[in-house]
Amino acid sequence: MFNLVKGTHDVILSEADKYSYIEQTFIQVAEFFNYKEFRTPIIESSELFQRSVGDSSDIVRKEMYTFLDKGDRSITLRPELTAGIIRSIVNNKLLALGDIPVKAYYVGPCFRYERPQQGRYRQFNQFGIECVGVVSPYRDVEVISLCYYGLKILGFKNLKLVINCLGDDESRTNYKNVLRDYFAKHLDNMCGDCKERFKLNVLRILDCKDPSDQEIVKNAPRIEDYLTPKSKENFDKILKTLDNLGIEYEIDRNLVRGLDYYSDVVFEFHYTSSKGINYGALCGGGHYNKLIQEIGGPKDIEGCGFAIGIERIASVMNDDNLFADIDESLDCYVMPLDISYQNKAIEIATTLRLNGFKSDVNLEGKGLKGMLKKALKFNTKYALILGEDEVNSNKIVVKDLKEEKQESIELDELISYLDQKESEDCECHHHQNEE
Ligand code: ATP
Ligand code: MG
Repeated sequence: MFNLVKGTHDVILSEADKYSYIEQTFIQVAEFFNYKEFRTPIIESSELFQRSVGDSSDIVRKEMYTFLDKGDRSITLRPELTAGIIRSIVNNKLLALGDIPVKAYYVGPCFRYERPQQGRYRQFNQFGIECVGVVSPYRDVEVISLCYYGLKILGFKNLKLVINCLGDDESRTNYKNVLRDYFAKHLDNMCGDCKERFKLNVLRILDCKDPSDQEIVKNAPRIEDYLTPKSKENFDKILKTLDNLGIEYEIDRNLVRGLDYYSDVVFEFHYTSSKGINYGALCGGGHYNKLIQEIGGPKDIEGCGFAIGIERIASVMNDDNLFADIDESLDCYVMPLDISYQNKAIEIATTLRLNGFKSDVNLEGKGLKGMLKKALKFNTKYALILGEDEVNSNKIVVKDLKEEKQESIELDELISYLDQKESEDCECHHHQNEE
């Protein structure tokens, strides 16, 4: 027996269906917004993340799976996908002037060496988008709204959009200077991490979760007083448009996000499940104006994106019964009552599948009762019984397990019989009958 590697988990059976459902929902929404899929490697050069996610981030400082390969190259399992997507956009020269924006979506595993706990794993899955070549704050709104509608379609109510503006380079340089002056006076009483943050990126102190540090953060200078007129104007446009779209938000002036590449608007969606469990941020994102250049792309091209954690979404949806609608039923379960009918049963199951009926066949021969039990376990609509009489007369018994009725049907007519039953069964038909 081998145990799971710490911080990893198997996503199997119905849980895997749930993950697919979440991913497919977001993929469809992204396609509707005219995003295209990007699949980039799970391994990238370590330097890519040092440059993009940033040396001062927790991710690069302590959470990366980094190793030397047999050719002595420093390789890292991606802790997030933005860096790889931008690298790919740059490498493939997709940023010609007439081609922007490049709208990319992705889904796949990420790796972070974190302390495993509720909703936090060392291998987890993200869906996300990047819009590269953003020249209007309304593009930022589009990114935020895509995330919002994805969550809405999954059934989330009472979503909390937490939003902030970190400003452009000039705003941030000014703000960082006053922040440094302020925290320099308090640094002796702050946690070790904050002392480190002070040296690497003072903004990150705003994010500290230590309660006594938070008291100090409360009285720190506010970013809003240091935004350039352009940054302020852009942020106001974003908020105004969110108002018009009916997307509620809460401004949190201390929201800085964990990655170094953000500038101007940053956001997270928060949600507390009906059980009162707060899984933290379901997703996070924002605008970046230096990242593309940092990764070797053209100057002055800006982008915006977000990433959601599939594990977090699935946990909340489990808690709040938002998965109720996933159809896991089986249309047909073919049950040969004798081993010698199994070949016939396989042929019938194949024909059913080729005609659009999700089907399985019993090849374990546990008697009628046992087979019916299995059919019920699979939430089957029709149990198809193949006994001696049926085999001799080229027929099959179709047992409707919902209505508990059964009929003997000519094999040649099986598909048209089932098609007929299905069309009687469909919603529209029911309504017609009611009227
Ligand atoms: P957190 O504050 O929860 O650590 P983060 O700021 O590190 O999140 P991002 O890097 O923005 O998160 O990743 C986007 C999303 O990916 C998060 O909102 C979360 O849903 C998910 N996520 C991040 N780290 C993990 C993890 N270790 N396990 C599961 N999901 C994660
Ligand atoms: Mg984190």
